[in-house]
Amino acid sequence: MFMKGLYVHIPFCNSICSYCDFCKMIAKEEVKEKYIDSLIAELADYKPILTDVRSVFIGGGTPNSLNDRLLIKLFEALKPYLNRSTENTIEINSELLTASQIQLFKLYNINRISIGVQTINDKLIKAIGRKHNRLQVEEAINELNKAGLTNINIDMMYGLPGQTMSELKKDYDFLMRQKIKHFSYYSLILEDKTILKYQIDHGQIGIPDDDLVADMAEYIYQKSKKSMFKQYEISNYAILGYESIHNLGYWNWEEYVGIGLNASGFINGIRYRNNDVIAKYQLQRIAEKEEIDRQEGKKEFMLLGLRKLAGIKVADYYQHFGSYPQTDFNLDKLKKLGLLEIKNGNIRIKEEKILLGNIVFEEFVG
Ligand code: SF4
Repeated sequence: MFMKGLYVHIPFCNSICSYCDFCKMIAKEEVKEKYIDSLIAELADYKPILTDVRSVFIGGGTPNSLNDRLLIKLFEALKPYLNRSTENTIEINSELLTASQIQLFKLYNINRISIGVQTINDKLIKAIGRKHNRLQVEEAINELNKAGLTNINIDMMYGLPGQTMSELKKDYDFLMRQKIKHFSYYSLILEDKTILKYQIDHGQIGIPDDDLVADMAEYIYQKSKKSMFKQYEISNYAILGYESIHNLGYWNWEEYVGIGLNASGFINGIRYRNNDVIAKYQLQRIAEKEEIDRQEGKKEFMLLGLRKLAGIKVADYYQHFGSYPQTDFNLDKLKKLGLLEIKNGNIRIKEEKILLGNIVFEEFVG
């Protein structure tokens, strides 16, 4: 038995961003302490199957909102995996990063830092309820690089409330000036039960129309083509060799263990999701389990794999399912539309059509 990815969820934040529908909360120290204890107990239960962890991803929430003592407690428990795995990522918010956190990251072999930025425009930062400023982001990147933590990702967002094209361009220019190895650029998704949805429904704030959002996506796509970053997934770009090992595991339909509040995992053909209420999670971790049958597995394999610009390998598909995607799905239609390319044993969305991915994905849902 082996397991490649380990996801660890830290649901704590110091403030709540208006667009966020992740599993997060503002909590007292005692709550955090108890949670870390529960997390460590959950990790121990998975020990027998965590024999070959290739990537650890500590996500949130805001993992670096934990104090140093709790970070050490968590890292100590994760140490056997952090020491053996190739890629160990932690998500951070720049305004909370301290010199001692950087030392801890180095000490415990955290070798990839993912900074949630979204924008460096003060007006937009305020509109989405984030707390950083441009200088804090720059300083965090400088300090991390100085400490030798050079594998840095920045998460950005476009289509923010009131965002103009020229503001997007300034954000993008900022991004290109940073000493980083990877960035992701996601379109803002308006999720139910978020502060932002309420503000929009009540006319307090507006978001760019679909045409402008499409123009922004096109701008990022075109500019990145001329940059040193290579797009390898719909929303992800990396300098060659710095693609996220952990996220590629998801897109390659590999098994993984997720621990913590609302975390999900995929083991032995079963997808599970943990409880999203802390008191419930502490009593009974798993809230739901779903067996992924062959038909569902085939769809997932295609839906996830085609997010990558490299697409899927027909041989991998055959190895999993004993059949071919060309016979399981109506790919001819997508080929005729000029969206899909089937070449050298690979199936992929044509690079210049990657922004039309949703049309392709419709073939594999339902
Ligand atoms: S910091 Fe991240 S997890 Fe926390 S509220 Fe903001 S977007 Fe959500």
